[in-house]
Amino acid sequence: MHKWLLASFLCSLSASAQTKNAIAITHVTVIDCTGAAAKPNSTVVVTGGLIGAVGPSGTVTIPVAARVVDATGKFLIPGLWDMHGHLTDATADAFPLLIMNGVTGVRDMGGDLVQIDRWRSEINNGTRVGPHIVRAGPFVDGPKEGVTNRLTVRTPEEARQAVRDLKAKSVDFIKVHNALPPDAFFALMDEARKEHIPVAVHLPKGVSSAEASDAGVASLEHIETINESALWRKGATAKTVEQAVDENLGPAGQELFQRFAKNGTWYVPTLVAYERGFMLWSNDPEALKPRMDVQAKQITLVGMMHKAGVKIMAGSDFSDWGMVPGVDLHNELALLVEAGFTPLEALQAATLNPAKFLGKTDTYGTIQVGRAADLVLLDMNPLEDISHTRKIHAVVVGGKFYPLASLRAQALQDAANRQ
Ligand SMILES: [Zn+2]
Repeated sequence: MHKWLLASFLCSLSASAQTKNAIAITHVTVIDCTGAAAKPNSTVVVTGGLIGAVGPSGTVTIPVAARVVDATGKFLIPGLWDMHGHLTDATADAFPLLIMNGVTGVRDMGGDLVQIDRWRSEINNGTRVGPHIVRAGPFVDGPKEGVTNRLTVRTPEEARQAVRDLKAKSVDFIKVHNALPPDAFFALMDEARKEHIPVAVHLPKGVSSAEASDAGVASLEHIETINESALWRKGATAKTVEQAVDENLGPAGQELFQRFAKNGTWYVPTLVAYERGFMLWSNDPEALKPRMDVQAKQITLVGMMHKAGVKIMAGSDFSDWGMVPGVDLHNELALLVEAGFTPLEALQAATLNPAKFLGKTDTYGTIQVGRAADLVLLDMNPLEDISHTRKIHAVVVGGKFYPLASLRAQALQDAANRQ
């Protein structure tokens, strides 16, 4: 074979290998989540698991072998991230639910590191369909009864050792839970800063939200912890949760939120966990009413934080106790809109913001050339009504196009196989 022939043969071989699994989604309205206006009649080309081209239909070259999906009348958003989930508790059953619901990324907030890493490598090598996973591994917590996947820490020195041990295990970040003694918490924060590991915090009892923010936590979890903080901060005057909530609705809250904004502390309110939890945990109407009043105020607090410039991410706290993986992220987006986010801002809380938080805006969070092809094709416009994020037609993840019907059929088959 002549040299030029060989060269052109190899060239066409690599071109066809690249475009063999190409996907072209045509005539779609792209909501890229950068903050730009929606772009009607666009074409998005996916090659090799990446977004290869985005532009007006007719101007984008569609690879010859591409699977063409005519998406006239449909809407395309980036894959969603649930920034607070527990895969170990939810078990592998979570994966089909997450993907069916357009959740293509999960920040795992504490679980069995070995198991999560096994799942993660199966997803990466294509033997399991699932989301990208960023994980903490075991929680760092104080002594507690009846819990698993914990590094139990009692002293500042043990806290520093826990940071070094987790660093050696290459965790993506550290998750602190609420029984960690305050002196151990501050030692952990100091050591994590030296080791350059971000720390996500379920507020330890006795540490205030302001102190945690000043100590440099990457993210604070759960809206209720700012109310707990108001009960145990130095000089606290609130005696009940109701009084604590009311304090946060006033100038004390404004001051706190300005501090979060100034320190760059992210917040993941997991409002849906309280909505669901407050109902599940109570079948006594007498007890339910005050809880629902607190929840309404918690929604207001998230809106206040957002107005104050606090960076917020969507997380459901899906687990084993009643939160549904995938489904409850959509409920969280609706609650963010109820708190005062525009639908686009709510979408960004699950797309662009997680990418920013993770330092991966070149890879995730928007529909732009070169990003991972994590895409959700919707039948209705989510900018008109956030509940339309549930109108999923198909999901693209790992370079593959999954019509919702095929994901449903697979989930049913998996369920039948488990019987
Ligand atoms: Zn959690």
